Amino acid sequence: MSLELLPQRMQAAIRIDEEGPHYNGTPCWVWTAEINRNGYGTFRVIITPGHRKRKMAHIEAYVIIKGDYDRVLLLDHLCRNRPCCNPDHLEPVTVKVNTLRGEAVLFKPLPKATEASQ
Ligand SMILES: [Zn+2]
Repeated sequence: MSLELLPQRMQAAIRIDEEGPHYNGTPCWVWTAEINRNGYGTFRVIITPGHRKRKMAHIEAYVIIKGDYDRVLLLDHLCRNRPCCNPDHLEPVTVKVNTLRGEAVLFKPLPKATEASQ
């Protein structure tokens, strides 16, 4: 999977984080430009003069490199790193699967403080 497949403008906004989280042996491609309040990378494109549209960086990267997917589905970050744009770290899943996976992370049991103190 090569970053060079993306337009220059997107490449410039991505930092391949060799030191950071990896998924399946490959590092995250961390979006370093605009991040929305949900933690996803975004950028603006000019549709027509005076009319701009905000795009999601990870969706754009996936579509350019892997091809389009059924837009009923959501692109799930397998690496759990929302600013990541590495198409190998993204998988189109149903809303239901995405929610279940999200909850699995949210409700991961915390270590019990009492056990450590005994
Ligand atoms: Zn990643």
